[in-house]
Amino acid sequence: MATQTDQTGPKPLLGEPRDAGRQSLVYLFLLVPMAALVAAVPLAWATGLLSWTDIALTLAFYVLTCHGVTVGYHRLFTHGSFKPNRPVKIALAILGGMAVQGPLISWVADHRRHHAFSDKEGDPHSPWLYGTSAWALTKGFWHAHMGWMFEPRNTTNEERFAPDLLKDPDLVRVDRLFWLWTILTFLLPAVLGGLVTMSWTGALTAFFWASLVRVSALHHATWSTNSVCHMIGARPFKSRDKAANFWPLALVSGGESWHNSHHADQSCARHGVKRGQIDTSARLIWLLEKAGWATNVKWPAPERLAKLAVERHGASA
Ligand SMILES: [Zn+2]
Ligand SMILES: [Zn+2]
Repeated sequence: MATQTDQTGPKPLLGEPRDAGRQSLVYLFLLVPMAALVAAVPLAWATGLLSWTDIALTLAFYVLTCHGVTVGYHRLFTHGSFKPNRPVKIALAILGGMAVQGPLISWVADHRRHHAFSDKEGDPHSPWLYGTSAWALTKGFWHAHMGWMFEPRNTTNEERFAPDLLKDPDLVRVDRLFWLWTILTFLLPAVLGGLVTMSWTGALTAFFWASLVRVSALHHATWSTNSVCHMIGARPFKSRDKAANFWPLALVSGGESWHNSHHADQSCARHGVKRGQIDTSARLIWLLEKAGWATNVKWPAPERLAKLAVERHGASA
């Protein structure tokens, strides 16, 4: 773990530690949805309390908030892969907030720090932190997947890593209203479920599936990019770290599991750069561009990809 006195930049690397109150909120919003996720399958099996309304709401909120993170938080706000108009910018920031992965600016700061120190000291969530033995990698997997968020001192200095976002009043406002997006993301599915079925049971099962289970399922999809996709998969492109392309997660991660390609060419709007590599986030950016709502899209350039390609396309752990 990096120290407060890291010398590689003009400003300190880390932000203020989270106080006990904030840290308990992290536990609450990570662990309660996860308990629902663990309980979900046997519960549905035993009770049959899963309706088509629940499935539709779960999928809809998953797709919306997933792309809020992948297209908004990640490709737009962290890496500047395209330029949106103002309504799209605000909508993406809100949808990303509704994924309950933290306020926009701290998410972006953490992720930029991840790229700056990828798999080296200073990376907020590298699975290689403890070494390469089986036990070190087990600990590393836990740390990269979710353990890093349970370390109150492992926060990122927003002024150093996200000064551009701090200068945008729209984004600062959306960031400060994170509490509201959190309430909405848990409440809306329940309200919709109740209205569609006109029953309290409908509201309750929608809350369970489309709020709790959905939030946790997306948490794990996103966290897998930090853990699994820095451990196993193919590495067809040169990058300075262990980032890998892990195809089984492509669909659930909105195309973010083409993580080796992403680390090799960070601001590229498409991560699944090869034919057949599913990348729904790139498709959404393409649609925004077609609608005239996004411009300056950084699409992959064949010459650049050829330069980044490693000679032998190897899949290694
Ligand atoms: Zn990464
Ligand atoms: Zn990135």
